[in-house]
Amino acid sequence: SQQESNAREVPVGLSKVKNIIAVSSCKGGVGKSTTSINLAYTLSSLPDTTVGIFDADIFGPSLPTMIHPDVSAVEFVGPQIKPLQYKNVRLMSYGYVNEAGAVMRGPMVNQLLSQFISLTNWGELDYLIIDMPPGTGDIQLTLSQMLPITCAVIVTTPGELSYVDVGKGIEMFEGVEIKCVGVVENMCYFEGGGEEGVRRVVEEVREDETVLKEEALERILKAMEEEKTKISIFGERHKDKLAGEWGIDHVFEIPIMEDIATSGDGGVPYVVQGEEMSGGRGFEKIKREY
Ligand code: ADP
Repeated sequence: SQQESNAREVPVGLSKVKNIIAVSSCKGGVGKSTTSINLAYTLSSLPDTTVGIFDADIFGPSLPTMIHPDVSAVEFVGPQIKPLQYKNVRLMSYGYVNEAGAVMRGPMVNQLLSQFISLTNWGELDYLIIDMPPGTGDIQLTLSQMLPITCAVIVTTPGELSYVDVGKGIEMFEGVEIKCVGVVENMCYFEGGGEEGVRRVVEEVREDETVLKEEALERILKAMEEEKTKISIFGERHKDKLAGEWGIDHVFEIPIMEDIATSGDGGVPYVVQGEEMSGGRGFEKIKREY
């Protein structure tokens, strides 16, 4: 129909973007933004590769917390706005333009999002990473129809319910003919660190009620007693099941790492921080994991 073809028309600010990768999750707090950001900075380290990140979460933008751009004032170019920049990655988030922190409500959001998307001039990009709002509802579906998305990556944590969630995400994208090319199982395991370190990490990592912290802590302490080196905190991992049931070939496991948590709160992406502070250690590690 006419309406459908309009929905698929490429917004002008995206006309020179070659690939759009949607990074999505069913729940908040699983590491979707962390994945988006580190994927973007990893891609930008490839030769001659230009990358941008669009934080599409209008209710709770996280890019401003996780990356502090070099210049924070948004610049107009004619009727459009230029993305901000940190290192060589272009950035846009509602949080950068709405410094006053006005609270957005449901019906306003779809319209605001589409305006925001056509307002931003990304210029020439090889990859634009979309940090999707968490969930598989109306806003996510509208975004998937509005943007010419090349492929999707789904972020989850281990555990039975998370597995069901991944299916929901894959089905939503399939419904609009977008292929899910990879799943990231984040916070898969924790490597050693002593009881003190473990407690600190558990406190930092998840503050939402979806994970029972006590239970996680018990699991860690038990595994430490048994002297296991890789400790699964959030339950069963799904690498094989995901490959079998959904045909996802690329399932990546990211461990819980204190450095990832602190870099997320500190405004410098983990892969960048790793590169600067420890001679590429973190960067090499993430490149291997992804
Ligand atoms: P989401 O975008 O899904 O809401 P975030 O990427 O904002 O999740 O991550 C939630 C919190 O967990 C952040 O404080 C982040 O720094 C932390 N975090 C994410 N992944 C890891 C990890 N692998 N190890 C330690 N902390 C992590």
